[in-house]
Amino acid sequence: MSVPEPAGPRCFCRDCLADLDMGVQNLGVRRCTACGSPRLVRHRSLAGLTIAHIDCDAFYATVEKRDNPDIADKPVIIGGGKRGVVSAACYIARTYGVRSAMPMFKALEACPHATVIRPDMAKYVRVGREVRQAMQALTPLVEPLSIDEAFLDLSGTERVHGMIPAKVLARFARDVERDIGITVSVGLSCNKFLAKIASDLDKPRGFAALDQEEARLMLAEKPVGFIFGVGPATQERLVQRGFRIIADLQKADEIEMMRQFPSEGRRLWRLARGIDDRRVEPDRGAKTISSETTFETDIRDFATLEKILWRLCEKTSSRLKSSELAGSTVTLKLKTADFRQRTRSQSIAAPTQLAAKIFSICREMLAKEIDGTAFRLMGAGVSALREGSAVDDTDMLDRRAAHAERAVDSLRKKFGSAAVIRGIAYEGPEKAQE
Ligand SMILES: [Mg+2]
Repeated sequence: MSVPEPAGPRCFCRDCLADLDMGVQNLGVRRCTACGSPRLVRHRSLAGLTIAHIDCDAFYATVEKRDNPDIADKPVIIGGGKRGVVSAACYIARTYGVRSAMPMFKALEACPHATVIRPDMAKYVRVGREVRQAMQALTPLVEPLSIDEAFLDLSGTERVHGMIPAKVLARFARDVERDIGITVSVGLSCNKFLAKIASDLDKPRGFAALDQEEARLMLAEKPVGFIFGVGPATQERLVQRGFRIIADLQKADEIEMMRQFPSEGRRLWRLARGIDDRRVEPDRGAKTISSETTFETDIRDFATLEKILWRLCEKTSSRLKSSELAGSTVTLKLKTADFRQRTRSQSIAAPTQLAAKIFSICREMLAKEIDGTAFRLMGAGVSALREGSAVDDTDMLDRRAAHAERAVDSLRKKFGSAAVIRGIAYEGPEKAQE
């Protein structure tokens, strides 16, 4: 199978943006013929790739180095404070084995001469916002993943910019460096899954393009856990059935996969082939109703998180009910002790506003995230909203649950919310599912 090669430049310079003729006679060219820069981007599908993942390089550490040139060439660790873990390590510190989320004492064992800086979140948020604004000047379709990374969909922007997305992105990276003083890495591909993989291929200050055919080859030898959303538990189940590396999934039959893994078989089968239909969804802002809470101390265990989750789902549900809204995408948000965000979403067939339903979906997603990681924040949200309070009446089980939940709601209205305590806040998780 061969990929049709789109018309347009297949090689250009990241510094001066000049197109380079890649005729046979020029295949050995290592530098830009216009400016002499060695930073050339070369790819057969360059003109056809439109989905990007942009990730700032060692973001917190890079911002600190920008603000203090004395430490530019030194190993820098952002961390410490009461949490006692590494929030970010610059690339020099990483060469000593320092990694994010590592306990500080271990990091300092590995790199005793590192400069340690307490995180200044307000500053990072400010810089992150500047980068975000620069992204939004390229396309309205910017989906932030965290303070320092986002997906961009640049389909159909070639006429506006007068150049292909690849060049727009190279220019963006160059301008961010000049105007904001930090570096980013760009991954360019045909969908979110592959763009995210690409941005990691050439870090820091990188630019990598990846098409589906290359991705298939590259993915083949990776363990199945490389696919996002495949946590240790799912990986274990896959390995037990003979799916150890992604090539095993690529060889599998789609229907057979769906039979063996009803909830995720189809998704895994497709992702293994580099197929991902998720759209880049711009900041949904007010179109999500959610509740979240930051914990006093970090939490790792499921039982504790589950209890908090139930309260969050009740809160979200009551907000939906009071604004007469229901939604068909349920999202669980977690922030790890080192400020990494994990967002997991699931779409359901019919919109809901029921606490019990939101909870059961979030709970399932939460269970997959329990892997010893310490969390500092959790949220439960519902999006893809529509108006209506007579929802959740589509099948009999939902109808019964809706009926029970509304009965409780009306009691609460009469007697106050403390009058009726529901679900695991009182009886444990099993009862909540009745
Ligand atoms: Mg980053």
